[in-house]
Amino acid sequence: SSSPPVSLGFSQSDETEEVQEEVVLKPFPTSLSISPALLENLVYDALVWSSLNGLVVGDKSVKRSGTSPGVGMVHAPFALLPMPIQEGFWKQACELAPIFNELVDRVSLDGKFLQDSLSRTKKVDAFTSRLLDIHSKMLEINKKEVIRLGLHRSDYMLDAETALLYQIELNTISSSFAGLGCLVSNLHRHLLNQHGKDLGLNPKRVPGNTAVRQFAEALAKAWNAYDNKRAVVLFVVQPEERNMYDQHWLSFLLKEIYPTIRKTLAEIDGEGQLLLDGSLAIGGQIVAVVYFRAGYSPNDYPSEAEWNARLMMEQSTAIKCPSISYHLVGTKKIQQELAKPLVLERFLEDEDAAKLRKCFAGLWSLDDLEVVKTAIERPELFVLKPQREGGGNNIYGDDVKEMLLKLQHEKSQEQAAYILMQRIFPTASLSYLIREGICHQNNAISELGIYGAYLRNNDKVIMNDHCGYLMRTKDSSSNEGGVATGFAVLDSLYLT
Ligand code: ADP
Ligand code: MG
Ligand code: MG
Repeated sequence: SSSPPVSLGFSQSDETEEVQEEVVLKPFPTSLSISPALLENLVYDALVWSSLNGLVVGDKSVKRSGTSPGVGMVHAPFALLPMPIQEGFWKQACELAPIFNELVDRVSLDGKFLQDSLSRTKKVDAFTSRLLDIHSKMLEINKKEVIRLGLHRSDYMLDAETALLYQIELNTISSSFAGLGCLVSNLHRHLLNQHGKDLGLNPKRVPGNTAVRQFAEALAKAWNAYDNKRAVVLFVVQPEERNMYDQHWLSFLLKEIYPTIRKTLAEIDGEGQLLLDGSLAIGGQIVAVVYFRAGYSPNDYPSEAEWNARLMMEQSTAIKCPSISYHLVGTKKIQQELAKPLVLERFLEDEDAAKLRKCFAGLWSLDDLEVVKTAIERPELFVLKPQREGGGNNIYGDDVKEMLLKLQHEKSQEQAAYILMQRIFPTASLSYLIREGICHQNNAISELGIYGAYLRNNDKVIMNDHCGYLMRTKDSSSNEGGVATGFAVLDSLYLT
């Protein structure tokens, strides 16, 4: 009760940059015609701005760029101009964030629902199985997470045909790009301040992006709730991470007030210790909050050491972002289970359940023979998804058909590793995508992510907010998304 109020007086960069006087407002032109001279100027200014403001990632052609900061940086791939979206859709997505936050929390408390829903997946997916083992152990020892912190990102696409916003997935672990995403919003405001008149675009229509500040605030408030003045925040990271600057934006803001350390799972196994009172110590420092930017993929666990580290952290009293339960709630299988009739209603008030359900696309288990049959006939209308995170894992088009036939043929239990999802087709529009200093003109589609932060201490909800956004834009002919995987670029919004 004596914890000081959290005030984060920092600002990431020029969010406060004066917005110029109202320009003559045209609706966002459907095919912006930009003269070659203006385009060249815009690209040049954008590249300078990115370099000066830390909108950067490690350059894969430089060997040490994934391990040492300050070495081999290249601008993050970005869209030159913000993507137009009707304000109503943005508001709708923002409104859903606190409901999804609450849903994750409630589902996380139902250990039996998680275990039962994933029981068949467990048999065929070794990674999910290991996560469930940790979860089982926590159920056995009746481990209670009194303080719970979620930093989520719910991703959406706007379906062209129905003009409805559909959720693609909900990320409950390592939701990335709060840092760089905010910078892209600033970049776009800056470009529209400079060139808005020529473009006929108003910088005020790019919403301010509070993602990184609010994520830092949530971590800071969690640190406060843990109530140990000497404790640190632990960032769990991959040994090589070219997206380190996105993470550093967050830890940099946090470090201004609280000590923050950065360790890999292997290092945590080596240096970590569970103290008698249950607290987690790394090299003698007590950890208040564990923030995962690794541990979501099987590749993050090359040996037992990494699994030991994960288990040790889970057993400890440290606040885990996410806990093993929160992590499991974010799996594709749970997304599909929650979409079944009357399941949401078990966890939420009817009104909230109805709001979420409106954005659920078709989701099916492979037990649904009718749907599997349709998907074999019309594979282009579906996406086949395994229980994986981080992009590049889904199956599309004819591969869906082939995989479904193979699974049917083998009559294996393997089917439980996948879910089927209705494929969403957003409207494509002409965009300028910039990679490695080169501007490509593409027919592109976008995916809107809304960040959410949730912090609860026992009965008290300390924070439950939507916190800024991430737009990612990709060539419309590309199936997958993902910026880190090279499919998409970072973008922001232009409200229409
Ligand atoms: P991950 O956890 O690996 O990010 P996603 O479910 O977000 O998995 O899928 C990765 C990408 O695949 C998305 O960013 C999106 O571009 C594309 N995608 C996923 N589901 C759909 C869908 N139902 N319709 C269209 N594209 C999809
Ligand atoms: Mg994901
Ligand atoms: Mg995704």
